[in-house]
Amino acid sequence: MLKKIAVLPGDGIGKEVTKGAVEILEAVAERYGHSFQFEYGKIGGIAIDETGSPLPDETLEICKKSDAVLLGAVGGPKWDQNPPQLRPETGLLKIRKELNLYANLRPITYYSSLSEASPLRKEIIEEVDFIIVRELTGGLYFGKPSQRTVHHGKEAVVDTLFYQRDEIKRIVELAFQLARSRRQKVTSVDKANVLESSRLWREVANEVAKDYPDVELEHMLVDNAAMQLIRNPKQFDVVVTENMFGDILSDEASVLTGSLGMLPSASLSETGLNLYEPIHGSAPDIAGMNYANPLATILSAAAMLRLSFGLEEEAEAIEKAVKEVLDLGFRTRDISSQGSKVISTSEMVAEVKAAILDQEAISNIMGAYA
Ligand code: NAD
Repeated sequence: MLKKIAVLPGDGIGKEVTKGAVEILEAVAERYGHSFQFEYGKIGGIAIDETGSPLPDETLEICKKSDAVLLGAVGGPKWDQNPPQLRPETGLLKIRKELNLYANLRPITYYSSLSEASPLRKEIIEEVDFIIVRELTGGLYFGKPSQRTVHHGKEAVVDTLFYQRDEIKRIVELAFQLARSRRQKVTSVDKANVLESSRLWREVANEVAKDYPDVELEHMLVDNAAMQLIRNPKQFDVVVTENMFGDILSDEASVLTGSLGMLPSASLSETGLNLYEPIHGSAPDIAGMNYANPLATILSAAAMLRLSFGLEEEAEAIEKAVKEVLDLGFRTRDISSQGSKVISTSEMVAEVKAAILDQEAISNIMGAYA
């Protein structure tokens, strides 16, 4: 299989973790006889510095000519005081809008070997397995007006929470479809006791549910959901919610399994040109030190193989290799605990790569005996 992959490393540890994920994709290509072509583009702070725009047209062109996009992370203190149009995060919001990446999928998976790294007790988090489906191109982050203003002579500010019925329907339907292939339960999170937008969200969720009689629908207020994620995360299967609630809840959920450095994400579009990125940011505090955990980005690459290219076996090979390396006790600093073998970013990549290529050695031996 020949595929073109746009790689946008971005800022901070984005460069280190995407480098690692590309090495892993190359190892997969070698093992399974595929050809992946990588084309690099700039986004975020580095793009502002070098081109004056957080998302240059050239980067968008590279993405549009590709079969999938792999992104690192953007941002850093250097650009924190910039005006909105020159902020790294503006590049991120723009690429979501331009590629129409309406759905962000964040699986929360429990690794038994990492139970020590979670702030919660083992009995609360073991076997946790759910996915957060976050609406990504609407709501407060995109609604207009969004500006400082003056009201009755005093300084004021306004942000706008705007959704069209179809946008809600599209994301809720995706959640129901996903639930069908999982444990048939959708938890729709809103704030329907206060927000009109949430009341429409709930209405649409109830309508969509009629087409999926095999899937259970439950509604949960966002404040309760924030609490339930900590109290009893095992109750969730597919959680669907609007943009800002999803942003906050998915970061909260990320620490359940240990570290931000472990969690991948996939952002899906209707055109099939999807974007894959770790959920963490550019971690300026450890950038350039070879400390970053590359596994979230490596697992995002696995999601790319599965969801964009239909390469299920290859995706599983990566996920299995990651699990094996963790089971062997290898840890980057963020997930280390007493007795673990602390290794660098590049060493972690090398371990995962070896596990992937060793699997080939094992399967060849098995083949010889078959
Ligand atoms: P962050 O995710 O960058 O870091 C939070 C903490 O987690 C830090 O202590 C960091 O060292 C650690 N961490 C994160 N990823 C790690 C990894 N892979 N391995 C080991 N440790 C890891 O969040 P922040 O500090 O709030 O933000 C830093 C910058 O990143 C800001 O400019 C922010 O706007 C940006 N950001 C970008 C994205 C994105 O590109 N999608 C997401 C979140 C934050």
